[in-house]
Amino acid sequence: MTREEYALAVFGTEDDILRAVRQDIADRHMPSISVHPGIGQLLAWLIQLSGSRHVLEIGALGGYSGIWMARALPEDGRLTSLEINPDYADVARRNLERAGVAHKATYRIGPAEDTLARLEQEGARFDFFLIDADKPGYPAYLEWAVRLAQPGAVIAADNALLGDAVLSDDTADESAAAIRRFNRRMAEHPRLVSLLLPAYDGLSLARVVT
Ligand code: MG
Repeated sequence: MTREEYALAVFGTEDDILRAVRQDIADRHMPSISVHPGIGQLLAWLIQLSGSRHVLEIGALGGYSGIWMARALPEDGRLTSLEINPDYADVARRNLERAGVAHKATYRIGPAEDTLARLEQEGARFDFFLIDADKPGYPAYLEWAVRLAQPGAVIAADNALLGDAVLSDDTADESAAAIRRFNRRMAEHPRLVSLLLPAYDGLSLARVVT
């Protein structure tokens, strides 16, 4: 048994719906890059701890993390989820319906950077962010998150270790190089208090201070 299996066996709260959604995403041969159940549980816990009401998710995939986060929100809370692939957004929406939380979610289709610029024009602000999308985009998504953050907002980023690829300094791996830049920026950003949780595939966490 691994550490992660032990934690899940004792503390895990993934229910049948979430398990079925994870299976559904695998069956559709979508990239099996949903967050680990332990990460989903941590995100939900952080949303409740911080009293967050407006969550921005960059990268919906099949809605697995979206269900964890939408469930953690109050009834009038909102999850805004950005997804470049309209088919994935459809799957995500259906999965949130299945979990009974679709009424809290809005899907915005298209390249995330376009939608982020539009959200800024609309005056949208968020108090919780999950970055879990294309890795080369991470550094730009971090800057957007800081711009769209309310004071005290939390920024979380999955795959901050990228299967340990960040540990080498191989510059040919574009994704690893981008995540290394992202982590460095998160650590040194004057408006962020940050840490990297080296569990699962790594979760970088920051709080926006003004
Ligand atoms: Mg991920």
